[in-house]
Amino acid sequence: SSQLMAGKRGLVMGVANDRSIAWGIASALAAHGAELAFTYQGDALAKRVKPLAESVKSQIVVPCDVTDEASLDATFKAIEDQWGKLDFLVHAIAFSDKNELDGMYLNTSRANFARTMDISCYSFTACCQRAVPLMKDGGSMITLSYYGAERVMPHYNVMGVAKAALEASVRYLATDLGPQNIRVNAISAGPIKTLAASGIGDFRYILKWNEYNAPLRRNVTIGEVGGSALYLLSELGSGVTGEVHHVDAGYHTVGMVAVDSAAE
Ligand code: NAD
Repeated sequence: SSQLMAGKRGLVMGVANDRSIAWGIASALAAHGAELAFTYQGDALAKRVKPLAESVKSQIVVPCDVTDEASLDATFKAIEDQWGKLDFLVHAIAFSDKNELDGMYLNTSRANFARTMDISCYSFTACCQRAVPLMKDGGSMITLSYYGAERVMPHYNVMGVAKAALEASVRYLATDLGPQNIRVNAISAGPIKTLAASGIGDFRYILKWNEYNAPLRRNVTIGEVGGSALYLLSELGSGVTGEVHHVDAGYHTVGMVAVDSAAE
């Protein structure tokens, strides 16, 4: 592979295991010469994330709970101390109570609405605030979204509302940071079987539905999300900001596929 990312240093937040979208992105970046730092959510995940980080020769692997301001401060302090700068940021973090990722949106509680918004939307802004002072030569940031932000998907509920807010925040952040040559984009990934996705009701059915109805007639892989992240985080994407880029085998373009075609 190329050295497209040679000399670039970035922070990857949201690896839980080797099926995480963040890991697909990290692998692609490392394969193209990027130097990576990682965060993990807590001690339980340390034993999964540390070996993965080591496999791409990462020197910075720190805990970070994005609901905790002090934890966020410590993460970016570690980056500042060791690198003094940052070129890119990958935010692949979301959470909602799985009891509310089932059935109707109507039943969303105030407490879980606030928590879902905090972790799945505001945390990206909180990370950007701390990354900006380190992006002295400009930079590129991405977050992960889903089609449930744009259209109703079964059981996605409050997470869809949070993703809609996240996508809007990408446009505001892109506008705020454009003058500093910092680009901000989202990748709207098709459904992928990960830890977080297993909390969504009928997720296997959603996967099947996408496979039958997407133009490519299949689901996407974390490696494919990684390829698109590489484009957005490298010089290849230098003209792109404020964008929500779909990596979903084309699913979002389809109103309805022909019966005979879908049944194949
Ligand atoms: P995942 O479970 O591998 O990753 C989710 C990550 O969020 C985990 O690493 C977890 O530790 C982290 N996280 C949750 N709460 C946190 C907190 N308080 N502090 C720090 N980290 C926290 O699942 P994934 O599917 O790879 O999810 C990554 C992103 O991709 C999420 O934003 C998700 O909504 C998005 N996404 C997923 C799919 C899919 O089908 N899997 C599709 C589109 C978008």
